[in-house]
Amino acid sequence: MKKEQKAASSSLSILAMAGLAPYQEKKGEEYMNPKQLQHFKLILEAWLEQLRGEMDKTVTHMQDEAANFPDPADRATQEEEFSLELRTRDRERKLIKKIEKTLKKIEDNDFGFCDSCGVEIGIRRLEARPTADLCIDCKTVAELREKQMGY
Ligand SMILES: [Zn+2]
Repeated sequence: MKKEQKAASSSLSILAMAGLAPYQEKKGEEYMNPKQLQHFKLILEAWLEQLRGEMDKTVTHMQDEAANFPDPADRATQEEEFSLELRTRDRERKLIKKIEKTLKKIEDNDFGFCDSCGVEIGIRRLEARPTADLCIDCKTVAELREKQMGY
């Protein structure tokens, strides 16, 4: 339940960031027709642009702060900050790769279907997580499996 709420709020921000309203389907509209694909392309491109901007900021910040602190305590704090930023950057880099892969899927007309079982992932779910490549059922199973592997 909590997770769903989180997904919903992030969907709002991704859509808002892209300056888009949730997609309104017409009755009988074909799933992933060119209009829908275009909608998700815009979302993904805006997201990509935002992430790239954030990564540039991180790099500039680290260059600015790369001064040598004579105090070892300051240095330790700085190193901690840097490693946190590096982890964030690493996450962002992976996300960017995933978004680029998803954009390629749109190009190839292969977007919006579950990689595992082939069903429609659904517009609302994709607006919440545009890079989702599994339907909710397969995702749940995958997460359960992951959790079991953790023990
Ligand atoms: Zn599936």
